[in-house]
Amino acid sequence: MPYKIDETHDPKLRSWVESANDPATDFPIQNLPMVRIIIDDEAETYVATGVAIGDQILVLDFLVQAGLLEGLIQEEHLESLLVDEIYATLSLEDRGRFRSRLVSLLSEPNSELRGHDVAEHALISASEVVLLPAFDCHDYTDFYASVYHATNVGTMFRPDNPLLPNYKWIPVGYHGRASSVIPSGMPVRRPVGQLSPTEEGGSPGFGPCKLLDYELEMGLVIGRGNELGHPIPIGEAEEHMLGMCLLNDWSARDMQKWEYVPLGPFLAKNFATTVSPFLVTMEALAPFRCPAMERPAGDPKPLPHLFDAHDQERGGLDITLEVFLSSKQMRDKGMEAVRLSRGSFKDMYWTVSQMLAHHSSNGCNLQPGDLLGSGTISGPKRESRGCLLEMTWDGDPFANPPIIKPGTERTPIKLPTGEERKFLSDGDEVIIRGYCEREGYRRIGFGECRGVIEPAVSI
Ligand code: CA
Repeated sequence: MPYKIDETHDPKLRSWVESANDPATDFPIQNLPMVRIIIDDEAETYVATGVAIGDQILVLDFLVQAGLLEGLIQEEHLESLLVDEIYATLSLEDRGRFRSRLVSLLSEPNSELRGHDVAEHALISASEVVLLPAFDCHDYTDFYASVYHATNVGTMFRPDNPLLPNYKWIPVGYHGRASSVIPSGMPVRRPVGQLSPTEEGGSPGFGPCKLLDYELEMGLVIGRGNELGHPIPIGEAEEHMLGMCLLNDWSARDMQKWEYVPLGPFLAKNFATTVSPFLVTMEALAPFRCPAMERPAGDPKPLPHLFDAHDQERGGLDITLEVFLSSKQMRDKGMEAVRLSRGSFKDMYWTVSQMLAHHSSNGCNLQPGDLLGSGTISGPKRESRGCLLEMTWDGDPFANPPIIKPGTERTPIKLPTGEERKFLSDGDEVIIRGYCEREGYRRIGFGECRGVIEPAVSI
């Protein structure tokens, strides 16, 4: 595994940026996720790349100009302002040196930056700027890597045959649409489209989606690509990863049900995919690696191109993920968003290395900035279901004996205002949060991924 636990993960490290020492912050000195910001300082409006530290963003341009990142980041790297382009030029060793240098500059006893004139300009309050993802999404692929999600959804549509024969052999995925990957905070317009017929053999409707859903996912961003025709061996997959963010794969279930046969998702998915702005690097995630999910007895061993002993031991990621919902009425009444679910990325059937190795196994070339969605992250418990399609469904194929009811039976979620939800209403806001905790290490977080549903535009 190329990303080792080192002195930058020391839980005793403290920063002279005081807000970074708050135990509740997502962004202590041990994290330092990458982000882009829009700065509007009266004189001009410009975009800059930085790292989050406490409630501040440290803008890298100022550090480069002050010579504080000499030998690590060149000024020309910053011209593009894109983290994937900066990282594409860095060797793994240089990535490690870059992180060590940032940690050193921000650590409590170091006065190189703290005592420098540039510090005043280089640190900007995150609440005063617009936050954008730090990478330029070139291509977007979405996987389906949770066996719990796949089994729940499969049971609704095919009660006798929930998992198709390929599921335990290949990380199933489809090619998504990069143009509609949007930053957290941007509203999501309810899509219009062909809706599944309400009776067998009937005609489809056409109009605003009635069964709008979110999907809790993680996004993996590629840092180094591969040449066309040259697959990435699973043992080297980690070296091609830059970092991870939160992702919401908004889904129109009534459009999806009608259109997905025989080629998979299309317009039900590509109207919006929201990503969180903070990209947590693979280096920062090193302490939170865990074994790959243990396959149940009787499941096949992955084929050689998807099997690596080290990946089985350390290829999982223990990331706790939570989904919150607030309706417009709740916000108008000053109510807090309610938590709908809590799960963990460690419950995924396929590891990120397996997804990446499989994606390139036919010679497909991945490029810096490519985004790989994990698929909906659901766990074995009802409270860890990662979308409304599963949450409001009454079945449980994992119960003993399994509880399987017809797929149309749904129990709504009750909100504190008395409102009920089976799927999303206009004005609803979905908020995803994620964090990593492990004894002996500092908690790190991913910030938030949020979006409000706006009414459909009639056509
Ligand atoms: Ca998805």
